[in-house]
Amino acid sequence: MPERTETESRKLLRRLQATLAEAGAGQERLDRITHIIADSLGCEVCSIYLFRDAITLELCATEGLAQEAVHVTRLRVGEGLVGRVASRMRPVNTDNAPAEPGFRYMPETGEEAFTSFLGVPIQRLGEKLGVLVIQSKEARSFTDDELYAIEVVAMVLAEMTELGAFVGEGEAMSARHQQSVVFHGGIGQEGAAEGKVWLHEPRVVITNPIADDPAEERKRLNEAVDKLRMSVDQMLSNAPKGDAEQIEVLQAYRMFANSRGWMRRMEEDIERGLSAEAAVEKEQSTARARMQTVPDAYLRERLHDLDDLSNRLLRQLTGQGADTGAQMPDNPVLVARNIGPAELLDYGRSLRGVVLEEGSVASHAAIVARALAIPLIVHAGRITQEALNGDTILVDGDAGVVHLRPEETVANAFRDKIAMRTAAQERYASIRDKPAETLDGAHIALTMNAGLMADLPSLPSSGAEGVGLFRTELQFLTRSTVPKRGELAALYSRVMDAAGGKRVCFRTLDIGSDKVLPYMKPQDEPNPALGWRAIRLGLDKPGVMRMQLQALIRAANGRPLTVMFPFIAQFEEFTAARDHLLRELDREAALGHPLPESVEIGAMLETPSLAFAPRQFFEMADFISIGGNDLKQFFFAADRENERVRRRYDTLNVSFLTFLGQIVDRCTDTGTPLSFCGEDAGRPVEALCFAAMGLRALSMRPASIGPVKSLLRRVDLREARAVINEAQAQGAQSVRPAVMEWLKRVG
Ligand code: PEP
Ligand code: MG
Repeated sequence: MPERTETESRKLLRRLQATLAEAGAGQERLDRITHIIADSLGCEVCSIYLFRDAITLELCATEGLAQEAVHVTRLRVGEGLVGRVASRMRPVNTDNAPAEPGFRYMPETGEEAFTSFLGVPIQRLGEKLGVLVIQSKEARSFTDDELYAIEVVAMVLAEMTELGAFVGEGEAMSARHQQSVVFHGGIGQEGAAEGKVWLHEPRVVITNPIADDPAEERKRLNEAVDKLRMSVDQMLSNAPKGDAEQIEVLQAYRMFANSRGWMRRMEEDIERGLSAEAAVEKEQSTARARMQTVPDAYLRERLHDLDDLSNRLLRQLTGQGADTGAQMPDNPVLVARNIGPAELLDYGRSLRGVVLEEGSVASHAAIVARALAIPLIVHAGRITQEALNGDTILVDGDAGVVHLRPEETVANAFRDKIAMRTAAQERYASIRDKPAETLDGAHIALTMNAGLMADLPSLPSSGAEGVGLFRTELQFLTRSTVPKRGELAALYSRVMDAAGGKRVCFRTLDIGSDKVLPYMKPQDEPNPALGWRAIRLGLDKPGVMRMQLQALIRAANGRPLTVMFPFIAQFEEFTAARDHLLRELDREAALGHPLPESVEIGAMLETPSLAFAPRQFFEMADFISIGGNDLKQFFFAADRENERVRRRYDTLNVSFLTFLGQIVDRCTDTGTPLSFCGEDAGRPVEALCFAAMGLRALSMRPASIGPVKSLLRRVDLREARAVINEAQAQGAQSVRPAVMEWLKRVG
């Protein structure tokens, strides 16, 4: 890189710094900046276009184009050369702009006289802010050095935009992070919440993008990178040996921390006048932009690793840690790119809601959010870029929508919705101690699903008759090593204590597929939902399952014990799992430990195959519970985690209801108690239809018990069944419209 350009670029940055330090409104600053850039680079035109909304760019300042065009000329992303820079987030450099495909002549700017065009994106950490353009009359290609210099300036502009340096009255730019923004995401957990943003990882703010002394900045960078390398080495030597995934991530960190290319690029940026932290962020922005275009999931993960590493480095350099001293608001809504289950558990019930940029509906964090009954939205755009600590935020977990800094009218409508919910909750509380009995006298046992000790207080408050599904995997998912038998026995015992004699149905470990243990060797399976999971894993490698069974027997300590095996696809799997439990009971007896007063052994029916198992299976099982989440995904061959298809088939589809009716018949034949414990059991209309099909036990989230009971108490199941039969006879695809119509009639 020639020495001349480096000093030129530093000189330019110094002039920019001086002008930014001067007092003045946002517009004045923008005007001065375009003047300085054009003057320093010896070109006739410099223009700054900034985003007015997600798709519209506005000419906000110019040197060289007609001043009347400022705040008048607008372009959509993709429109003209400026729009092209914005859509691709890559520079456009041409010596014959009018000949370029997509060139758009804007008469109001008088730009036809300018032949050469260089436009670069103004972006911050992958967030599009605008486009910086230089133009000249002379037909020439701008050199790589000029391109580099203009990119560095664009980086500084991005930082200044972030800091609100161009905010002003009237036509000037309005402040960023002040407008209301709506995000649409996936529903991880339903519910509604209003609160204040609490960022899991507060963003690092760079207040000094420009620096005068490159030697000093290089020294700062090198020292910070050395510290980072040491801390990565330290983390690597402390990482649990069996934790291949964590080790892989740390090794990637180490590779990046030692990467010469990464260091060289940052040092070059420093030479051009950026501070050490601005150089790190410039690299990070480039990596983020790349991340958005890389289709390969593995490479994207590695770019994420680089992003994480850059964040660590920025914290080192700026001294801004995760603990910024900010006070957590009273009603925090956690906003994060992603979060692990253990971290989410640490926040616990203090959170009103959680909004993630990544995550998935079936992620561990979603499981925890569900257990904590806090609304969760996943895939919420780029919310970590937009949200600031303390911003007002509304989480509509029913619609999958997040309103950040909402307009007052939106907030009021939302508050009405929450108030209606609260009123309904009060109504439900009034029937808490009444039975779920329909008008025709059928009693439906409503129990709750749980997975944490923290769930148990909901047992009395919801009016649940017991715990119909206790998912035991959370204790395994939130740790870095397999929990010990003693710990598990103590926990299960506390769960039974808290249930105060009500039945708790413990489901043995259901892992694999989406639920991957941190310490389990990841299985490279082409289709994990159909893979080595749940009971398949338990039977093939029975060590952990046996340990868990022992813990359950010890926890019961003379009390009744209910155990359920997940994902049984054929009779033999049930007999094999049951034999394990019977053997453990014998062993415990031989060791002189007290046996449970009674033992119920059940199976989860989650694959259609089990519905057609031999009669002997139905006779042997003490009870059967339909895992509707899995059963439905296999019945319709529609992945429960895939947003595109997971809602495609209605649970009240006639085929599915008919199938449920067949399962009910088989269980009635053998007198086998049957329940339904998937998410659908907690939806009132679905619950009503299941009851009409003959199900007499439903297990659901505690918050659903009130609404389901309230509806069941108002209906006659014989009438409901007649409506279903009629819809079926009419050839309806789903019975929902007919049932809804009938419900309207009967009130
Ligand atoms: C189900 O599949 O319906 C179920 C209850 O189990 P999980 O959601 O934990 O797979
Ligand atoms: Mg399941």
